[in-house]
Amino acid sequence: MCGIVAYVGHREACPLILKGLKRLEYRGYDSAGVALLNGEGLKIYKKKGKVVDLENELQNKDLHATVGIGHTRWATHGEPNDVNAHPHYSNHKKLAIIHNGIIENYDSLKQALLKKGHEFRSQTDSEVLVHFIEDIQQETNCSLEEAVRLALQEVVGAYAIVLISEDDPTQLIAARKSSPLVIGVGENEFFFASDATPIIEYTKDVIYLDDNQVALVRQGELKIVNLENERQAPYIQKLELELEAIEKGGYDHFMLKEIFEQPRSIADSMRGRVNREEGTLQLGGLSDYMDKLAEAKRIIIVGCGTSWHAGLVAEYIFEELARIPVEVEYASEFRYRNPIINADDFVIAISQSGETADTLAAIQLAKSKGATIFGVCNVVGSSIARETHAGAYTHAGPEIGVASTKAFTAQVTVLTQMAIAIAHKRGSITEELYQQLLLDLSAIPQKVGQVLKAADRIKEIAYIFTYARNFIYLGRGLNFPVALEGALKLKEISYIHAEGYPAAEMKHGPIALIDEDMPVVFIATKDSSYEKIVSNIQEVKARKGRVIAIVTEGDELIPNMVDFVIEVPETHDILIPLLSSIPLQLLSYYVAVMRGRNVDQPRNLAKSVTVE
Ligand code: GLU
Repeated sequence: MCGIVAYVGHREACPLILKGLKRLEYRGYDSAGVALLNGEGLKIYKKKGKVVDLENELQNKDLHATVGIGHTRWATHGEPNDVNAHPHYSNHKKLAIIHNGIIENYDSLKQALLKKGHEFRSQTDSEVLVHFIEDIQQETNCSLEEAVRLALQEVVGAYAIVLISEDDPTQLIAARKSSPLVIGVGENEFFFASDATPIIEYTKDVIYLDDNQVALVRQGELKIVNLENERQAPYIQKLELELEAIEKGGYDHFMLKEIFEQPRSIADSMRGRVNREEGTLQLGGLSDYMDKLAEAKRIIIVGCGTSWHAGLVAEYIFEELARIPVEVEYASEFRYRNPIINADDFVIAISQSGETADTLAAIQLAKSKGATIFGVCNVVGSSIARETHAGAYTHAGPEIGVASTKAFTAQVTVLTQMAIAIAHKRGSITEELYQQLLLDLSAIPQKVGQVLKAADRIKEIAYIFTYARNFIYLGRGLNFPVALEGALKLKEISYIHAEGYPAAEMKHGPIALIDEDMPVVFIATKDSSYEKIVSNIQEVKARKGRVIAIVTEGDELIPNMVDFVIEVPETHDILIPLLSSIPLQLLSYYVAVMRGRNVDQPRNLAKSVTVE
């Protein structure tokens, strides 16, 4: 959600910033802008739409500058238009700001500034902040750095900001609270960005700014302080990310590339953890907590969207194998409903980006009640990874497509490993089952490769249903969350209305929707509820629904009952979601492509939801 790129150094800032903003496009946005500082002063250019629209706007302009800030906005306050796009000038146009997040007390600050004669050009909360900073600077005659700290002490909300000042072309000031910000450290040059993707082609040395820290670059020197002006030692990390990982590599879309990467990404999420030869499973990040975890009375899983679905899959697996009661909660509900959390509870927080605002807040709440928190995130060094007591990275590699695919299967793989490890420690599964599960888990990447071979067949099915207006997805047991995830994928990228239900629940309402126009996707693999789902398919066919069924290879019964089948290889029941979710990703991908949708950047969506 929102992208920040800023640069100060010896290169041309504008092309570098625009390229960086394009790298951040996957995060989701509705407008873009840059502010450049050169001998002619501080100039802002901004435009509703995509970065290319901004580029068109910039044609034939003198853009020479070696310092600048750029932003892609995901509107929260004020509609997406040219005026509300960032950067925003201060009242006297001496400063410009880019901001990701929400200034919650913007209205009271704005009222006070209006009384002082400030004139606001936009409807945004962000513009209020830059006016406020300039006002403090003028009232107290202090440095910009000091004014930023004083202003942020008054601010309630979430922010990653970068400021540029007409008075000093060697300077940029940045700060963060709850929204991500990374600083790239080059040779006499500095980069600021929402994540490392705009930076890696220039430097691998980065600093992840912490909450309530202010970073000041001036005359080629970097200084970090907290809001109380205490000096903070910068911790420079080496990026492990490679450039190829964030490029399309010959695929039409990032989403398709990421779907096809799953044999590797699932293997990566087990690498160094599952040792098939020795029959062992070790999750380094959890080792200090294994004894305590084995005694856990309850596990609470929090997440949003696809991560919540991964949590639902995990609920079944933890309860089945480890026999520990699990509750799965939407982070956004959990944080506001005064939940009962005990000091001996374990909370697992799941987030691809590790920046999801609601999940972060849920973690903070659970922490304040004394619970132990584990993170399951994909982005290394993210806020959630840092806020939690321990955790396991999913190691899926950068996921650029807004609709999550490989991050979902990597989350499920990590959670499955956690459940198996805890069950083994508790003795709630036999050694024989433990060994079998490790073998079956190790075989999953190759089986995912087999499922992907059905891509052309799935494309044909997608073609037939391109213009369907609604879809229903039905599954039982572990395939129920898979049905929810399949429906979500379709909604996200094709904008077709889709619902996921537990198959048996259909009789309690949704069955009224079934007629010859309704495509119904059954996830009907051979597991403990197979007979039951066969009956559910009969019920839909009796009402003329058009059925696409995901079945286990060699199934002879269901293919004779339904309109279309897609096969997945056999595996242990608890591992089925890792296979049955793959055809649903492909189905939604091809339907969306055939409908001409912007698959990688669907409307209104953001990759990393950094506002609540
Ligand atoms: N709240 C700000 C706005 O609506 C920033 C949004 C963002 O994070 O892009 O302009």
